[in-house]
Amino acid sequence: MSLAKTVPLDPLLPNGAPRLLATPRPLPGGMFTAELGGTLLAVTPPLARMLGKDPSALCGTPIQRLLTAADGARLGALIDEIAAGHDRGLHLEVHFATGAGLSLPAWVYLSLLLRPGEQPLLQGLVIDQSFRVQQENEDAALREQMTRVSSLIALGEMASSIAHEVNQPLTAITALAQTCAVLLKSGKELDRDRLLSLVGSVVDEAVRAAQVAKRIRSFVTLHTLTREEITVSLLVSGVLNLATYELRIASVRVSTAIPEDLPPVSVDLIHLQQVMLNLLRNAVDAMATLPAEQRVLTIFAHHSGATVSVSFDDRGAGVPVAEQARLFEPFHTTKPRGTGLGLSTSLRIVQAHGGRLDYETNRDGGARFVLSLPVAVGDAASTPTG
Ligand code: ADP
Repeated sequence: MSLAKTVPLDPLLPNGAPRLLATPRPLPGGMFTAELGGTLLAVTPPLARMLGKDPSALCGTPIQRLLTAADGARLGALIDEIAAGHDRGLHLEVHFATGAGLSLPAWVYLSLLLRPGEQPLLQGLVIDQSFRVQQENEDAALREQMTRVSSLIALGEMASSIAHEVNQPLTAITALAQTCAVLLKSGKELDRDRLLSLVGSVVDEAVRAAQVAKRIRSFVTLHTLTREEITVSLLVSGVLNLATYELRIASVRVSTAIPEDLPPVSVDLIHLQQVMLNLLRNAVDAMATLPAEQRVLTIFAHHSGATVSVSFDDRGAGVPVAEQARLFEPFHTTKPRGTGLGLSTSLRIVQAHGGRLDYETNRDGGARFVLSLPVAVGDAASTPTG
């Protein structure tokens, strides 16, 4: 027989049991008593209000049924434990189903109420956690905003250097174009080679300015990563396809050793290609003064634990020890036409993927950049290879 109809709501407990459940001050939640199986016998008005129901409508319903399906099963298991005498004063974090796919996070504390000569009852305290969850969400949003603000501040600090970096090619373009105009206006016979070389320089400078702009753009827009699962082997072959022409012009051969069975990584393809292209271009630059037959870039990959690493080894002069600490600083460059933004942007991209970018000196004394990325979730448990 169900006790539901015989138990008054106030006082909460039948048969003159002590008013243990009275709330001295308003709690974000309320209390209930239930049969051992979970069927509600009494519910305090604040709890009924929290669930958006009338207290009398709740009585007779198993409390498990008010929760989302998975949480209902968990609470049922806890009730069974308590009914079996394992009352460990546990609480559960659960979600009450409040209709239309919505749910309300709450903590439920359960304990056994023993009554001499009568069936024990369950008593429960429910505390509404939606304020806490909302607070946590607001905190997370605030943290993200602060991160963006601080990168904007960092960007602001970089503004004068950026202006300088972009100004240089623009000034050169102006001077080159003015020289072209003077030559054309002079009325003298046109020196086509001279003009062609001036125009060529204009193009070079414009490309340089565009490069600075492009890198700054990816620096600012990093928070919008669009990830997809891809193997390192596909990533590298895509990058080598993109760089076919420049590798041929620079007479650089590429040797790869990438096991086909490496687990995939979850990355933003465009950003990761940018990182790899940058490492490749730096290697090409570093080997520019070597005899053509010595210009070899070796790309190899391996998998260890939950990380896939790809190394880019060149046979250039490497990075002097004194300069290694500044390698990833924005605008640090040793190239007359460098931007010094390649490695700093690459590092930011890799870190945004939860990975690392490290410099080492390789066996030949050249540079080795090691790009390490976490294995895509779901593949993290696969066996290491290579
Ligand atoms: P940039 O290529 O425009 O100079 P980066 O940030 O990509 O900008 O590189 C910064 C500096 O790091 C380079 O100017 C160079 O001094 C050093 N560097 C990068 N890659 C290599 C490499 N493979 N070998 C030697 N030095 C390198």
